[in-house]
Formats: sequence, structure tokens, C-alpha cells
Amino acid sequence: MSSDQQEPVKTICPYCGVGCGIKVQPGEESGDVRFMPWGEAPVNEGRICIKGGAATEVVDHEDRLTEPRIKEDGEFREASWEEAYEYVADELERIREEYGPDAMGFFGSSKVMNEENYLLQKLARRYGTNNVDNCTRMCHASTVWALRTSLGAGAMTNSMRDLREEADLFWIQGANPGEQHPIANSQYFRQAVLEGATVIQVDPHANKTTRSFEIDDTDPHQHLQLNPGTDIPLLNIVLKTILEHHEENPEDGWIDEAFVAERTEGFEDLKATLEDFDKEAAAEECGVPLEAIELAAKQYATADNAAIFTGMGMSQHACGVDNVQNEINLALITGNLGRPGTGVNPLRGQNNVQGTCDVGAMPNVLPGYQLVDDDEARESVEDVWGFEIPDEPGLTNVEISYEAGDSIKGLYVMGENPVMSEPDANAVAERLADLEFTVVQDIFHTETADYADVILPATTWAERGGTVTNTDRRVQRMRGVGKVHENTRHDREILTEIGTRLFDKGFDFADPEEIFEELRQVCPSYHGMTYDLLGEEGLHWPCYEPGDEGDPFLYEDEFETESGLGHIEGVEHTPPAETPDDEYPLILTTARLEEHYNTGTMSTRSPTLNKQTPENFVDVHPADAERYGIEDGEYVRLRSRRGEITLEAHVTEDTTEGVVWTTPHFAAASANKLTNHVLDERAKIPEYKAAAAEIDVDIEP
Ligand code: SF4
Repeated sequence: MSSDQQEPVKTICPYCGVGCGIKVQPGEESGDVRFMPWGEAPVNEGRICIKGGAATEVVDHEDRLTEPRIKEDGEFREASWEEAYEYVADELERIREEYGPDAMGFFGSSKVMNEENYLLQKLARRYGTNNVDNCTRMCHASTVWALRTSLGAGAMTNSMRDLREEADLFWIQGANPGEQHPIANSQYFRQAVLEGATVIQVDPHANKTTRSFEIDDTDPHQHLQLNPGTDIPLLNIVLKTILEHHEENPEDGWIDEAFVAERTEGFEDLKATLEDFDKEAAAEECGVPLEAIELAAKQYATADNAAIFTGMGMSQHACGVDNVQNEINLALITGNLGRPGTGVNPLRGQNNVQGTCDVGAMPNVLPGYQLVDDDEARESVEDVWGFEIPDEPGLTNVEISYEAGDSIKGLYVMGENPVMSEPDANAVAERLADLEFTVVQDIFHTETADYADVILPATTWAERGGTVTNTDRRVQRMRGVGKVHENTRHDREILTEIGTRLFDKGFDFADPEEIFEELRQVCPSYHGMTYDLLGEEGLHWPCYEPGDEGDPFLYEDEFETESGLGHIEGVEHTPPAETPDDEYPLILTTARLEEHYNTGTMSTRSPTLNKQTPENFVDVHPADAERYGIEDGEYVRLRSRRGEITLEAHVTEDTTEGVVWTTPHFAAASANKLTNHVLDERAKIPEYKAAAAEIDVDIEP
């Protein structure tokens, strides 16, 4: 690369879903790429968090995969691209002939661009299967399900900008923007709070969000520190409090009667569900004083514009869909939808998790969330693609992993790391070992790559162009500085080659823009976008025709449900599948850190990030520490019915008595060796947020 002659390129941070713009400047040495601020970037206006500033550190990391590898006699050896491509194409054909197309699974990646995920899901469907999914299954599958079913679209209803300008109250439940979306928190939400907005945080763990808003015991902000898995009873207390108050004081308008009458359905069902609901008993179950929850209900119901933020503390439960439905219930009965500063807003974790879903890398939907079992929608995509699409939803990624070695014989993994990201990770590794053929396409040798037959070395985020879609539906362009290692390939180049070898037609794209042009033909909400129109500002979807400016907030006039009405539905408490007992007396819950990113493939290789937090730890409440005899900083063994990890104990009041808290980022002590593989039956998201656990002390570190 003649890097010394290149200008910096404007691109998007590869980490979280906020979508901050940054510049990448090639240095004088080949492979030397440096971060530069982009002062006019539309989302962040030049500000950046520690991850964004350190993002270029992994681009030329010494661990980069630089040649294709093929496993032979249990060892990897270097291979040519020709040999690797031929092997992959032959094995994919063999599996289809011997077992049928549904014997393959395809994993897309929320770290990879829209064009590449679009190609991967098209490849899966051309192969003949809908067994294609991405890691949204692990983070917001239940949120997407509830929002899509009850409102219309599986995405933030509002945008960061209108929330900053118009919201009077932020209800943040199971989300931690102070840690996970630092620029959204500091530049948007905190600004609103400085101008008078109130924060109600509902979370089992005190964290950077608690500290960033200085939430303490004084009004008006509140932290309702509930027991893990009690979000439904807590919200039912809120809903019942609002219903009761409205019955006695309708003039206060806590329920927006006109909105409920004209724009919703199901209100009577909610009232019936809550008729015999016992608020005192529920508050005890939540571990939160009833008066505090009732005060929060009043604060939400009396705000002019109240916005809900929902995160993985809500979605990653076996009752994840119900959890989010109850937030939708709250917004609908109070009329907090369809205008600026309101809504139900999932904060998306990865820089393109929204886009990966938008472009159809999911087993039940085609691009634009068109259902695969909707004949009309499917046929409209078939008209463009020129082949028949299977009409039954495929398996989700966790289901594919469950079936590995049984009905699933082969796996194509693009930029994912299921051996660390899926629950009950030891069992996942054992099942992947039973596959007949596995392709891993990535930038580093991940834990999953150990189980691969072929490893295809891809380029990083900084080396290539395409588009990504951030948490508030803004589609933005990424631009690359060129390859750092000549023998690596862009994900789209690899998929183009494999698709063309297998099927001749339909995969021969010269560049990302050509792919985007096809994508917009089959994805109605992207149809009005072109690379030129995206420019440097990007566009929010839906953007149906060229010239549409995109909608910063949704549902101004009607919801995108069949009836056009927002769907209210009462929900009842479902406790976590595992609750404490004599053998495992603690509740284990998990969450992420600001300095790290999911399975740590990139962030643990970043010197800046790793220096902040180099290894995993577990938060233990002082009362539990005393009971177990744990000193702060001592190494303990944390175990569940599925595995054990050794890590440092942090004795802290951030957690509550009986609840231990840890993170999934570190391979040596990954929380997912312990987490429970039980799924929400509709969205198939695993219950990462609650498992029964035990601690052993006096162990060898
Ligand atoms: Fe990157 Fe998110 Fe930090 Fe912005 S807030 S710099 S997108 S990690």
C-alpha cells in the first residue's frame, strides 16, 4: 500500500451501534493506520469514546490472519485461495447432495457491512436454505419480535436527536448507555438531563449509567435496583398504578384516553391481566420498595414526553418478548409513541446489528423484514433474484448450533464466534467438533476457528467500503484505506467468488455500490437510498423513494401493523428458568464493559482497551463476600450446572446480596461457560441474564 500518498478517509467506528464517524489516516509505513477525529461527523460531531479512539489498533495487529488455512490431520497449514475456494465449493456441494440444503447453517455478522450480510443471506437462500442468522439473536431478537408484532418495525421508534431535544423523562430498563453507548449517553441523553429531563433506571446492577446521571436517593432521578428477571412484575406495578390513579383521577390524564381509543387495540386485555395483580407481593419479588415504583410510575405518566430505552437486560430472558411487550404497553396507554421525545428504543450493541437484520440475515425474514412465508413478499424478491426462495423459516443460530452434528452437517461462519458468544459454551464447542465441514471467515483466529476445516482471512473494517446502519436507523457509508495484507480478501469478494463458483449467476458484483443497488431493489425501506444520496450525513430508514429524507421518528399517523393499531397485551411474570437452590444459591447475571466488545476478538487485542480491563472479574456484594469469606481482589471459582471459571472477585455494592455479576469478553474466563441455554420460545433468544451459580473460595489462582 502506498499509504504515504493517501488522504484520510471518513468512515464509521466499528464498535457499538451509535454510529460515530471517525477518520482513518494511513501512516508512512505500510499497514500503519491511525485514528483521526472527524469534526463534522453527523452523529458524534468529532467526539469519541475510548473504543472508537482505539479502533485502529487492531487493523495491523500481529495476530491478523494473512493467508487461507486448511486443516489437515488436525493441524492448520497455509493454502492458496484457489485451493481454499475449491475446497469450500466442493464441500458445500457435497453436503447439499448428501443431506439436502437444510444441512448447512450460515452465520452472518453484525460487525460486517450491509452489502456483505446481504450477500451471505442471498448465498444461503440460493443454496436452498433459510438457515441463516446473525448475533442479533443473542442481543435483541426478542425486542425485534415484540416491536415488529405490536408496532410494526423492529427498531428504535425515535432518533437520538429528537430524544435529546424533546424527551422529559428517560426510562432506561436493562440498558446501560453510560457504558455501552458512551457518545449517545454523553452527547444526547446527558444533555437532555442537564436541561431538566429525569432518569428512571431499572437495572439489577449499578453501573456507569447510574454514575453518569448521578442517580442517588434524591429526587428526581431513581435507580430501581430490582432482582434479575423481575422486570415484568415491576412494570406491572407501574401499569397498575397508572390504571388505578386514572380510575380515580381521570382529569390528570395519566392514561391518554384518546390515543388508546384511536390508535391501539388490546387495552381491555391489559386491564383484565392486572385485575387481581398484587402490587405488594410483586414489589417484594422485585426487591424494590413499592413506593419507589409507584413514584416512578407517576414520573413517567406525568412527563410531557417520556422515552423508554430498552437493552439486553430486558431482551436476554426466556420471557424477553413479554418483557419488551410490557414496555410497549406502558408507552401505548400513556400515548408516548408517534412523536418526538418518546417511544420504545432498543439501543443496539454492534455497529451494524440493525443493518444485518434489515438486509435479511435472519431465518424468518428477507431484506426489509419481509416474511419468508409471505408468498407475495417472497415472490417480489424472487423476481429480482431469479431463483426460488424456500418458503419456511429456517433455524436460528442457537438452533443451528444445537443441531450441529445431527441434522446440521456444515457451518459457514462469517465474522462470528459462537464458541464464546452462545450460552453453555462448553457444549457448543463439543457440538461444533461433530460437524463434517466448517468454514470460518474472519480477521483473527477466533475460538471458533479451532473447529474450522477452512479459515478464510478477511480484511478489517478500516480496509474496505460499504454501509452500516446504526441504532437509530441511520444508514451511513464506510470508506476504506486499502488492504494492509495483500493476500486477505474483503468479505464481499469471498462471497462473490464462492457464490459464482456454486451458481454462475447472481453473485458477480464489482464493488459494494453494485451490491447496494440490488439491495435497494428488494428492501423497500432502503429503496430511496443511493450511495450518492447517503453522502456524508446518511439517511434514516424508512426511505422509500429517492428524495425521501427518512423518518427520525416512526408512527406519527399509524402503526405498521395489519390493523394500523398499536397492540397492547397484558403479560404475566415468568421467573427465570433457573432459580437459586441449595446447590447453586446465587443468581448469576452478565453484562458488558465499556472497554470491551462482545467476545473480545478485537478489543482484547487492543493495548489501550486491554490496559483498562485485562481480565474478567465477578462483582460480589459485601454481605455475600463476608458470608463466603471473600477478600476484595481474591481469585474465586464461579460455577453453574454447565461449567466453571476462575476470576478475580470485586467486592462492591454495585450488585445486591445474592446476585453475582460478570462479563462475557474474556476467553480464559468467559461467562458463557456458565450461562443457561434456555430460549424465549418465540424469539429464540437465550436467557443470558439469569442462572443459578455458586462460588468456591481458597482455590489456586
Ligand atoms: Fe464507537 Fe460507540 Fe464509542 Fe461511538 S460510542 S466511538 S460508535 S464505540
